[in-house]
Amino acid sequence: MSKISKNTFYGKTLIESHAQHQSRVRELSSSIHDSEEAKIKRRRLLGPSEFWGEFWRQQEALLVADQGSSNSMHTFVLQYDEGYRKFIVAHPEIYWLVDESRPKDQRCSYEVIPDGSPCHLYFDLEFGKDLNPSSDGSKMTKTLIDVFCAHFLEHWGFPCRRSEVLSLDSTTDVKFSRHLVFRVKNVMFKNNKHAGRFVKTICSNIRQSLLLDNATRSAVDNILSRFHKEDLAELFINTTKGKELFVDEGVYTRNRHFRIYKSTKLGKNSHLTVSDDSEYILSTTYTNKELGLFLDSLISYVPSTKNLILLEYQDKNSVDAIKYSKECLSQRRVYVRAEKKIESPYPDIDKFILDIVKPGKIREVKLLNNSVLLYAFIDHRYCANIGRPHKSNGVYWVVDLNNKVAFQKCYDHDCAGFKSAPRELPEKICFEMDKETDILLSSVPDPQDCSLCQTDNFVALEDDDLELANIDLP
Ligand SMILES: [Zn+2]
Repeated sequence: MSKISKNTFYGKTLIESHAQHQSRVRELSSSIHDSEEAKIKRRRLLGPSEFWGEFWRQQEALLVADQGSSNSMHTFVLQYDEGYRKFIVAHPEIYWLVDESRPKDQRCSYEVIPDGSPCHLYFDLEFGKDLNPSSDGSKMTKTLIDVFCAHFLEHWGFPCRRSEVLSLDSTTDVKFSRHLVFRVKNVMFKNNKHAGRFVKTICSNIRQSLLLDNATRSAVDNILSRFHKEDLAELFINTTKGKELFVDEGVYTRNRHFRIYKSTKLGKNSHLTVSDDSEYILSTTYTNKELGLFLDSLISYVPSTKNLILLEYQDKNSVDAIKYSKECLSQRRVYVRAEKKIESPYPDIDKFILDIVKPGKIREVKLLNNSVLLYAFIDHRYCANIGRPHKSNGVYWVVDLNNKVAFQKCYDHDCAGFKSAPRELPEKICFEMDKETDILLSSVPDPQDCSLCQTDNFVALEDDDLELANIDLP
């Protein structure tokens, strides 16, 4: 496994983070109050790790958070301007402390629900008010909670009550909008795929159930038949595409971003707060109620794995509950690449780049438009712009195959637009390229439909690569 060692990535950063954290806090929140700083100082002595890492790439952030999972490191996304966002790795308590100090309109944060990590059952509920003037969102939410609690008990034998469901609201004049988090003690889903299958299956059953007469309904699903048909019918709303359930079934995707408590979508001034009708009972162990609500609202935060039960759901006939163990999550670290030689279709250029970044290794190489190679690295952060390695953000090298030059660029916000002095590719490589250019370039398939590009070591161009790379294509 090509794990980035704790020393290079996490532990060392932790030691260095004292001064860095201070300045990051100031940077992120110019309006941070003295009392907040005092709080942070107090926490430094007693509380959770003060590690604070900022990244431009989600994968890097998730990797660092994973390395620090024993310290409950969590990944957040902070949207701070139209089109600009940062991935931040911090202990949730530290994140809350900083987030709480931001001006209200700048509280635009999301939790990343890491692919394969345990998660609570969560829902995103919404409907447009203009098309649904008579829909009673509060009543609909209660019905939905009851439906899922009933299935919870039926499938796994865990009682689940309304008092265990945290209901957050960001309804506006035009839109009903809620987030639900089911917090059954010591119980989580194995990952959001299982949670998603559970939700989708029951949503599908609700649809079917309404098509049937009462006798057939009870035969098909005896849980849903306990609910009034009228109550279930009310869960459907008018949309521009027709009648639909008010449940967004598309929020169970990989590394999903889910807005956090007290955050708003950028520029929308619709902060998530506890719903007026929420029956959730907050644990009395929290002395700071707001912090408690925030921690309880996190979907994939696991403060302790002691006695944790993970739920699996394949389909109605294949449900399971297993005791948490590291092994049962063994498949989750999919973003940690296996140790092997990463190379492009141009091994000589790879070697040239490797010599520059020694002892760093190539983490990923991409070919863009058949004319540019993009190299990302493990253990190499040296940036010519600042004349030293960056602490958290990575650098990358760009090889312009047409002009036969290579130069370094940087993911750090402060280095945006920076481009190092170009280095010419060695004579030997240019000669080989000139000789073979026609063959080489024509033999490299288009990234969009290229099987080579789908393999682990040669990744096809993703939408955000160009944006992140901030690269001017020739
Ligand atoms: Zn830089």
